[in-house]
Amino acid sequence: MQWLNKKVRPEILKLAPYVSARSELADASGLIALDANENPWVPYPQTADMAQVNRYPEPQPINLLSRLATFYGVKTEQIFVGRGMDEGIELLIRVFCTAYQDNIVTAKPTFSYYKVAADIHGIETRELAIGDAPDFALDLDGLIGLCDAQTKIVFLCTPNNPTGNSLSLAQIEYVLQALPETVIAIDEAYLEFSVIPSAIALMAKYTNLVVMKTMSKAFAFAGVRLGSVLAQAEIIELIRKVMAPYPLAEPCIRVALQTLAPQGLYLAQQRIDTLKVERERVFKALQAVVGIKVYPSDANFLLIQVADAAKTYCELLAKGIIVRNRHKDIANTLRVTIASHAENNLLLAAFGVGGVVSKIERSAIVVRNTNETKIIVEVNLDRTAPVVIQTGIGFFDHMLEQLGKHGGFSLKIIADGDTHIDYHHTVEDVAITLGQALKQALGNKRGINRYGFSVPMDESLASANIDLSGRGVLVYEATFATPMIADFPVEMVEHFFYSLADSMEAAIHLKVTGENAHHQVEGLFKAFAKALQQAIAITSDNLPSTKGVL
Ligand SMILES: *Cc1c(COP(=O)(O)O)cnc(C)c1O
Repeated sequence: MQWLNKKVRPEILKLAPYVSARSELADASGLIALDANENPWVPYPQTADMAQVNRYPEPQPINLLSRLATFYGVKTEQIFVGRGMDEGIELLIRVFCTAYQDNIVTAKPTFSYYKVAADIHGIETRELAIGDAPDFALDLDGLIGLCDAQTKIVFLCTPNNPTGNSLSLAQIEYVLQALPETVIAIDEAYLEFSVIPSAIALMAKYTNLVVMKTMSKAFAFAGVRLGSVLAQAEIIELIRKVMAPYPLAEPCIRVALQTLAPQGLYLAQQRIDTLKVERERVFKALQAVVGIKVYPSDANFLLIQVADAAKTYCELLAKGIIVRNRHKDIANTLRVTIASHAENNLLLAAFGVGGVVSKIERSAIVVRNTNETKIIVEVNLDRTAPVVIQTGIGFFDHMLEQLGKHGGFSLKIIADGDTHIDYHHTVEDVAITLGQALKQALGNKRGINRYGFSVPMDESLASANIDLSGRGVLVYEATFATPMIADFPVEMVEHFFYSLADSMEAAIHLKVTGENAHHQVEGLFKAFAKALQQAIAITSDNLPSTKGVL
């Protein structure tokens, strides 16, 4: 990385950065901390969220760095984590650009903060116009032509905000090769919504590549402020030299660690997938509107061109919808964020395309994360597949499969519990999580009727009655032939239905007779599934409205 020292601001190379007493020790845990003039008490309110807020946080929290490093596939010394990507953008400028002398190069229109940050620091921004190019394609040779010896950073946003189009890895590589002694900073704020792989894959080959990430968009973290810069360790070291002493707030670090756990990532991915489906739906619907041009997008927004952007902007505002007017960048364009199904329907209705709205599916995902169990339950009452159950308890899996199959709804349960102790926590927490998911999916279309079903299984007869009443009650009449089914304690069945009734707020009455515990329990689950199927069925007169508002 010989080029690096030639390009860094000389005063940054020489800089003695801010240090704290604790950051000079390899391990400061367990010490009586009289070094930082902190207050010894946690302030009001002393809730779990407030833990440690009286202490300075780790400048670069090692747990968070390693979680992010694993997630992005780099080493911990190749990550800077800061309060949003915005901070990373500014720090890159601080490391490389000398005021009134250096410049950055980027596209126009693109994310506006590159230029704002450059302006703040007295740095020139050279912009290559893409607004008139077919498909907003970036002329790579034109871009490279704007660069000279004083160009320190080229900022490229892919997918680009606000045009929504992406660069291929080959295009990025072309720029990296053409400018081997200039930092090529790739902003991947929206990459999770695109099919193009991350430029991180090119880091091993090009030392001038910097990849910038944010959790604001795809991970729903805009309010937490968390973004990363990924680059060679030598560049990251320089960024850490110039960063604010403690860029991340302690509560944000804690929240980020939870969200980056497997359940959090799973939930985020489900929502990314949903937003991608919604983006295509809204795109198609808007294409049908006369007088509107919709541009294809790899991001979580659509750029649309109307006859008069200011007028449409005001009309939407009058209907309670705010969008971003990008007229200054590209004539008469508005940038519209893709949101929930119901919110998107309101947007479509504002453009007079309510008729194309698809039926709202009653679905929910609930994640439960405790020391004892980690559980994800996903239900879709309007689909019959898939039914995927993995709880680590064979007999329980078999019973839960009956629920999805005979209840006629899609059910995914992934549970990782302390089954090495016993099955209690896993069975109970699956019931609680499942009940919450069913309640959420039913929404306000909750029936108030009582449904019942009986299922004979050879010698045994099971019956179930359900009332989705809003009050959790279990009435349970059962005597089992044996206390165990393989390694599964039969008493857990009552506990399962008790927890389920409580969390889904339903009255559940169960009764079973018979001589074989396996048949009896299976009968109970099947009868319950069948009664539930009746209870959740929508009759034709209460289909969701075409407006799509729940
Ligand atoms: C939103 C956005 C950012 C800002 O990310 P933060 O992490 O919230 O600061 C960066 N780049 C682009 C292209 C964006 O649209």
